Amino acid sequence: MDLLSALVDKGLRREPPTRAEALAVLATSDDDLLEVVAAAGRVRRAWFGRRVKLNYLVNLKSGLCPEDCSYCSQRLGSKAEILTYTWLKPDAAVAAANAGVAGGARRVCLVASGRGPTDRDVERVCETVSALRAEHGAAVEVCACLGLLSEGQAERLRAAGADAYNHNLNTSQAAYADICTTHDFADRAETVRRARAGGLSPCSGLIAGMGESDEDLVDVAFALRGLGVDSVPVNFLIPFDGTPLAGRWELTPQRALRVLAMVRFVCQDAEVRIAGGRELHLRTLQPLALHIANSLFLGDYLTSEGQSGRADLAMIADAGFEVEGGTPPAGPPDTGAGHGERGGQPDPDGQPAGAAAPVAVRRRGAGTTLPPNA
Ligand code: SF4
Repeated sequence: MDLLSALVDKGLRREPPTRAEALAVLATSDDDLLEVVAAAGRVRRAWFGRRVKLNYLVNLKSGLCPEDCSYCSQRLGSKAEILTYTWLKPDAAVAAANAGVAGGARRVCLVASGRGPTDRDVERVCETVSALRAEHGAAVEVCACLGLLSEGQAERLRAAGADAYNHNLNTSQAAYADICTTHDFADRAETVRRARAGGLSPCSGLIAGMGESDEDLVDVAFALRGLGVDSVPVNFLIPFDGTPLAGRWELTPQRALRVLAMVRFVCQDAEVRIAGGRELHLRTLQPLALHIANSLFLGDYLTSEGQSGRADLAMIADAGFEVEGGTPPAGPPDTGAGHGERGGQPDPDGQPAGAAAPVAVRRRGAGTTLPPNA
């Protein structure tokens, strides 16, 4: 296909595709899906070989956010029955992070709900960052994700040893007011710029499946490229009961792969991360996504459970990829896929797996007395 040849050539040169080319990727048919994956895979391998970077989320503070992001189980007025707790103590945060590192993660993402941190909050997180840095040296990257940054906060996190800052754009500027009214797209973009200016590697991504158009997805991908982000988490909506987007299941595994491929063709040498919702939406096609993305989250998400860490490692090995930094010692085989008892299996009534299943709310790991999934 001429389109894909052109996108691969540009991808290898890091030359941006046109908007029309990016839109055309989203419009390809299911018959062309494997060609799209193969072309995106050529760009992926040129920049990242067959490496897969594992990232591990630690939710430092869960729920009770005053913002109204419609996709979020931690939002103002959320009725989702998630864990809610205030700031983890640094030793508890480090213990949770260490479980992820032992499971193979090379980046720890310290996340807190809220509009943005106070200076006291930043100091609190700096304690955890410093402790992780002291324990792991340069072997583990530390990313913070604390909301909108105020002047000087990125610099303080950097001085404590943080490597990166995550703040997702989530959707296009045009669609932003449809998903949130308490802050806007410009606020989010400004925080990404502040993180970068403060010496932190900017990480910012999107959420697919919220009712956005192809144009919105392409716009946010180009906005991320324009901000010079180093890593791009691609989330697929987890439609929590108790949130405004409950019951919204508009993605197919094929569509999810096309979204990932489009992001790869636009942000060619960025770390593209398969993020929240991969088990629910890619389902049994998850291994194909590894040919496009070079990174994923190990274990659980902020408020929902992910596939077991061991199943992730087995999937990566089975698909012929290698974990960045080396695979941790193997435990017993595990083919369980998390998300309730059904994992990636189809429903007996023919519904796609996940589509009719309640989201499995996280009940283990940070903020509980149960061991984390890693
Ligand atoms: S600011 Fe963050 S934690 Fe708060 S509702 Fe939005 S996404 Fe959720």
